[in-house]
Order: sequence, then structure tokens, then C-alpha cells
Amino acid sequence: MKHAFLSSVMGLALLFVAIASHAKPVVLSSLKPLTLIAKEITGKYADVDTLLPATASHHDYPLKTSDYGRLKNADLVLWIGPELESFLQKTLANLAPAKIITAYNLKGINWPVENHEVAEQSDHHHEQDPHLWLDPRNAILVAQAVAEKLILVDSVNKAQYQQNLQLFTTKMKELDEKLKLSLRPVMGIGFAVYHEGFSHFVSHYGLHQLDYVTFTPEQKPGARHLLQLRETLMKEGKCLFLEPYNDTQSARDLALELHLRIGELDALGVRGDPTYEQLLEQMANAFSACLANRRN
Ligand SMILES: [Zn+2]
Repeated sequence: MKHAFLSSVMGLALLFVAIASHAKPVVLSSLKPLTLIAKEITGKYADVDTLLPATASHHDYPLKTSDYGRLKNADLVLWIGPELESFLQKTLANLAPAKIITAYNLKGINWPVENHEVAEQSDHHHEQDPHLWLDPRNAILVAQAVAEKLILVDSVNKAQYQQNLQLFTTKMKELDEKLKLSLRPVMGIGFAVYHEGFSHFVSHYGLHQLDYVTFTPEQKPGARHLLQLRETLMKEGKCLFLEPYNDTQSARDLALELHLRIGELDALGVRGDPTYEQLLEQMANAFSACLANRRN
């Protein structure tokens, strides 16, 4: 009797160990760039999924019924925070706080130095730009948070996660130096972006952003703002940077009219299948190519 009891307990224990050792942890991140950062830490030891489809707006997205299940089942949920993804706030409040990483609230996040020219024209200058993944120093902080939480969920692979974090940190520091050098020649050259989502990159690398067309992709710019934008660009603008998947015909017309070059910034890595490092490199290349000092 006692023997039977013991063996069934042991059987259960073994079953538990078997399940635990075979199930990979699942990290669910709200946006592709966060997924790319998380993947650098998980390697093959955990799965990383992205909640939003690549072409969805990261400012406003209607959650599907299946999304609730995905959020509930994930071992870790990684998002920026309500400052960017307000559509997630209510749902995440119902999940265990221990499994959520809110990047916006991480200690030590670097914030752009405020651009007074733009801030004065904007109603939003009290907010900090939430597109924080565009600064490689912030990517390191996000990666650290992912590694810490993953180790709690999956301590068996602790050494792997720590090693991946170390490799990623080194890689980011090297990339940062490389980008600083490559962007130095175009630092003083004026441009505008389509929506106000690039100030982390712009500020960190000392680029000369004059203005944006619209604050978020969902808002239509006001007539007064467009007039200001036009005047500023006419004076000292060289490029207008558009984005994939935003309806930008009117911005395109403006660039043509003012003889501006048109560039494209892909902050979400929707073009191709970049690593996080490649996403930043592509962004630097887009700035360099459009702003470089040669004639059209
Ligand atoms: Zn945005």
C-alpha cells in the first residue's frame, strides 16, 4: 500500500519534471522590435511571439479574442507601456504583474533631450517619446529585464541566458560606436519625419530633426502645423522621411513640391526579416543615404 502510494507520487513527480523540461517558456511581446531584442536573449531556449501583426498600428490596435488567450498563456509579456500601447493597459492589468515587463518603466531608460523647437509647437511636450527601442542603450536594458525574468521561469538555462545577455551587450556597444561614426557627417542636415516616433534615435546620434508631419499616424495634422512645417522645410530641409504602411501621399506631394529627397524609416522592422542590430543599421543607412551631401 505504502509502496503503491510512493510510486504514484514518484510517477507524478517524474511526469511534472518531464513536462517542465520539455515545455519551452513563451515570451510574448507587443511589437516586433521588442521581439527582436527578446530573441537575442532566448536563443533556442525559449519561444518569442509578437502580439501585433507587422502592419498593425502600434498606437491603436483592436485586440482579438485569441489575443487574450495568448497573453494569458505566455510566461512573459513584454510591452512598452500605456504611453504607447494604451489598448493593452486594461487587459494586462488582469495578468500576474510578475510576468509583465513594462519597458517604459525600466530603471535607467535613456530619454531624448527635448527638442524645444518642436516641443513649443506641440501639445504633447509633457510626454516622453515612448519609441524607446530606437536607442541601443535602451535595448540593453530591455534585454537585461528579459534575462532576469526568464531565469526565474526557466532556471535550468540560466547560464545560457546570461551568456546571451553578455554577447548582446557587447554587440550593442560596438554597434553604437559604429553608428555614431557613420552618422557624424550628416549631423547638421535638416529633415522632417512622418510621425513623431524617432526622437530616441535622432537625439542619441545628434541628428537635426526640424519637425514631423503628424504626432501619431492616427492623427491628421492641422492646417496651421502643416503651414509651419512647410516654412521650416523650405528654409533648411533636405529630406522628408516616410514610413512603410502609412498613407503618406500628401506627405509625398509636399516633398515633391519643396524639392526634398524622400527617405524611408522602418522603426518596426517590417521590411525583410532583420535582427535588432540590422534594424538600427538600416535606420542609420536610411539617414545617411538621404541626408548625404550630394545633389539629387
Ligand atoms: Zn509610433
